[in-house]
Amino acid sequence: MKNENVDVLIIGAGPSGSVAAGYLHKEGFKIKVVEKNKFPRFVIGESLLPRCMHHFEEVGLLEALNAKQFEIKGGARFMRDGQICNFDFSKKHTEGWDWTWQVPRADFDKTLTDSLEAKGVDIDFEKEVVAVDFEGSISTTTIKDIDGNLSTVTAKYIIDSSGFGRVLPRLLDLDAPSEIPKHSSIFTHVKETNRPEGREGTIITFDIVSLETWLWVIPFSNGYTSIGYVGPTEYLESFEGDNTQKLQEMMKLSDYYFDRFEGLEYEFEPKMIKNIAKSVKQMYGEGYVLTGNSAEFLDPVFSSGVTFATESAITAAKLIARELKNESVNWEIEYSDYIKGGVDVFSTYVKEWYTGNLQTIFFHEKENPEIKRQICAVLAGYVWDETNPFVKNHHRLVKAVAHIANMEQEATS
Ligand code: FAD
Repeated sequence: MKNENVDVLIIGAGPSGSVAAGYLHKEGFKIKVVEKNKFPRFVIGESLLPRCMHHFEEVGLLEALNAKQFEIKGGARFMRDGQICNFDFSKKHTEGWDWTWQVPRADFDKTLTDSLEAKGVDIDFEKEVVAVDFEGSISTTTIKDIDGNLSTVTAKYIIDSSGFGRVLPRLLDLDAPSEIPKHSSIFTHVKETNRPEGREGTIITFDIVSLETWLWVIPFSNGYTSIGYVGPTEYLESFEGDNTQKLQEMMKLSDYYFDRFEGLEYEFEPKMIKNIAKSVKQMYGEGYVLTGNSAEFLDPVFSSGVTFATESAITAAKLIARELKNESVNWEIEYSDYIKGGVDVFSTYVKEWYTGNLQTIFFHEKENPEIKRQICAVLAGYVWDETNPFVKNHHRLVKAVAHIANMEQEATS
């Protein structure tokens, strides 16, 4: 069986694997990326956050992405029962990028891997990791091609960026229950033949149809729009028929968007992903680290997935680079604690969204501009900025501000 030796083996060529590969290649390490699919391939996760722009920029992938002219995302619109809450990323507490993109991921991820390959990164497509054996920190990974042929890669480090493939969590029994409510999602793309003119046609929107159920509308610059619902698993399952019938029925829940999408053909049979939150017992071990969805996924409501994927990837890649240069690294503090800190902040926002507290703040009539700037920075992905009270005191501040908003509402009604 053919065997290859590398410094770092990266499993998966999504945003997480691509950013890790970009960094380690730039630093001169011998790396290999193995990817189960042939690109372009569909994957969900189309609304990005400004924070991830830093990562693409740092590893030299931004120029190629820029050239694709994806739809610019300068903020986000939330709506509920005729009330509207707009966030503008240029009005946020934390310094940094104030725009990003909303992207068809097939095209976006292919742009990343094309750019990496042009730089000389070795990416093996249609190769699936099927087994991993560790001797201390040295791993031997078995890879299967589409004809069933096996080969192995020996590596000093593995970065598992396999997304919902969750290769190492499965093989090493690392899965842990998530604290996030059991939500599922159903979604597809439509080609819009009669998109509204101007901002209305391009703005990303989250339409809240009930406390735990909401619709996303994500227009792309290629004329297609992503539509999808998220809600409690049991509720989504209660809709009759196949996935097309389910989604058609659910679209009737949105007073605002029903007419816009009525009668438009779905580009593919809507996909349903059940119980989307994922977690692990540990994010690293001897000779490996988990990044992106392979490590953790909370909920789509604040579009944190790709940003978390790239933040964890670049952090892990930097630590591995240091370790391979014989510097000492404290993985617990420098990786696990750091990443969990950001996850913890997002986790509060997700949970408080579904308790209704955050919705109370978003749709409160009396807007406080300073609070809005601070929450806006969180929604832009700057969840590691401890100068932001809504990061530092996230556990109690969201609850406290919602409580005050509720009291003010009661006093005026
Ligand atoms: P992925 O992008 O999934 O890439 C992993 C790669 O690993 C894949 O290409 C896969 O083929 C490959 N792979 C898997 N198994 C193997 C194997 N055995 N061997 C080799 N390769 C393998 N995030 C956002 O930021 N914004 C959003 O709007 C958003 N919406 C979402 C909506 C829903 C319903 C869901 C479920 C998620 C959403 N996400 C969103 C999350 C987003 O999909 C992920 O966080 C993001 O894609 C993670 O990137 P990644 O690089 O970790 O994994």
